[in-house]
Amino acid sequence: MGRFDTFYAQLPVWAQHSTVTAYGAYWHWLRFGRGYTTYLDEYLRRDSFSANEWQAWQHVRLRNVLQNAATHVPYYRETWSKDTKAAVLAGRLEALPLLDKEPLRAAPDAFLREDMAPKRRLTFHTSGSTGTPIATIWTAGELRQSLALREARSARWAGVSFHLPRATFSGRMVEPDPDSRGPYYRYNAAEHQVYLSAFHLRPDTARSYVDALRKHRVQWLTGYSFSYYLLARFILEQRLDVPPLKAVITTSEKVRPEMRRVMQDAYKCGVFEEYSTVENSLFASECSSGRLHVSPDVGVVEILRPDGTPCAPFEIGEVVATSLMREYQSLVRYRVGDLAQWDPDPCPCGRPMPVLREVIGRMEDAVVGPDGRQMVRFHGLFVQQPNVREAQVVQETLTRIRIKVVPSNGFGSADAEDIVKRAQQRLGPQVEVVVEPVTVIQRTSAGKFRAVVSLVSRVG
Ligand SMILES: [Zn+2]
Repeated sequence: MGRFDTFYAQLPVWAQHSTVTAYGAYWHWLRFGRGYTTYLDEYLRRDSFSANEWQAWQHVRLRNVLQNAATHVPYYRETWSKDTKAAVLAGRLEALPLLDKEPLRAAPDAFLREDMAPKRRLTFHTSGSTGTPIATIWTAGELRQSLALREARSARWAGVSFHLPRATFSGRMVEPDPDSRGPYYRYNAAEHQVYLSAFHLRPDTARSYVDALRKHRVQWLTGYSFSYYLLARFILEQRLDVPPLKAVITTSEKVRPEMRRVMQDAYKCGVFEEYSTVENSLFASECSSGRLHVSPDVGVVEILRPDGTPCAPFEIGEVVATSLMREYQSLVRYRVGDLAQWDPDPCPCGRPMPVLREVIGRMEDAVVGPDGRQMVRFHGLFVQQPNVREAQVVQETLTRIRIKVVPSNGFGSADAEDIVKRAQQRLGPQVEVVVEPVTVIQRTSAGKFRAVVSLVSRVG
């Protein structure tokens, strides 16, 4: 625990609310400070760009970003060959090498533009569910842009705004006492925001979460999808009365179709998925037609085959992004670590922004079959399994899978056998499958739920 966390944990609850508000006021200043309105207007204006306008805009911007990288960013200046730098001048992104996470993790400063000297540097860390966290370094202007972007392309597309009261599930340790008897949230009065604790959500605490939404007149929800899904299940099981909500915008774990259904039933509003990373090298958000549009002004997104060539539509490949919004710490052809596929069909909403058919998952969350196949869609194991509250697939070896299940009442051996059968259908009968009932599934240190954990070291 850092010094601030230790200090915060010792405060009485009322003082924690005040601390959260002071922190919120600082954020409010960062968010809506100088330049915000201009950034917001620009994101809103580009919302109605035609395909040609997007192409032209991106072309100019990309050239600029690449040339700055080659000239002013030590990592690229020193590692890119003569040929690579020639490709930069020709604007040939596809000729540049891919960037792994490791160099960025090892030396985040080597990716900073030497010709920029921002007055304020803000550092955020990736949650680091695997490996050490990565330090991402921002200017205040870039942060403001990212918040204007979220207002324009997440909140407004979902019919809400950051000016309306909201609740957030995130990795923040808002309630430091694991045995707390509540409240399980803290209120940031500066932003009318209820920070919910992702670590205390259980059947017996669900009601107090709903009460907090009502008390603070929350109009929309944002943050970890799995926490909102879990809360939605408790709401339906206990028939809790939910105050009227306008939208749920999820920002973390992928929303499976059954998660979406449960959330829509419980919250009685639309569920919108946002796809981004802490690095903010890319951004995609869901429009009212339910499609996930990539914002071309945030980053150039490529989906690649293992040999580096671009994937055809609907073909699953690795997501690689070149950041256009964040300039100070420059990421060129950055391997985001996700798998996704393009959907070329035009969207009924009329926006020509590219559509991701699906972000299939984190590559580190894939399960490897004995034949080397990587498989990422494991939610099928638990579809129509009403007695499974939560489940996690742990790959222990190439031929052994452990499935941890938090059962609800009524879970029996027939359910377990069914899960084993489904897992073997996907991985082959030679794979040993162990179903282990547990009372809780451990979250990551950032409070995230991981559906798949692989203990098998990956080759290549
Ligand atoms: Zn659309």
